[in-house]
Amino acid sequence: MAKKKGQRVKFGLVCTVCNRHNYTTEKNRQTTTESLKFNKYCPNCRKHTEHKEKKKLD
Ligand SMILES: [Zn+2]
Repeated sequence: MAKKKGQRVKFGLVCTVCNRHNYTTEKNRQTTTESLKFNKYCPNCRKHTEHKEKKKLD
């Protein structure tokens, strides 16, 4: 049985102000269990807002 290389999972980053999906990121599910938050530029709000991970992308 082949061992899988990693547990990296892709997530979408969504603006918490307007709910727009602006970025996609990935994290290691085994080492990072808490939900992530990033301060990023939102083109829709036209300023930096807080983005949080929304859903798993495959
Ligand atoms: Zn926004």
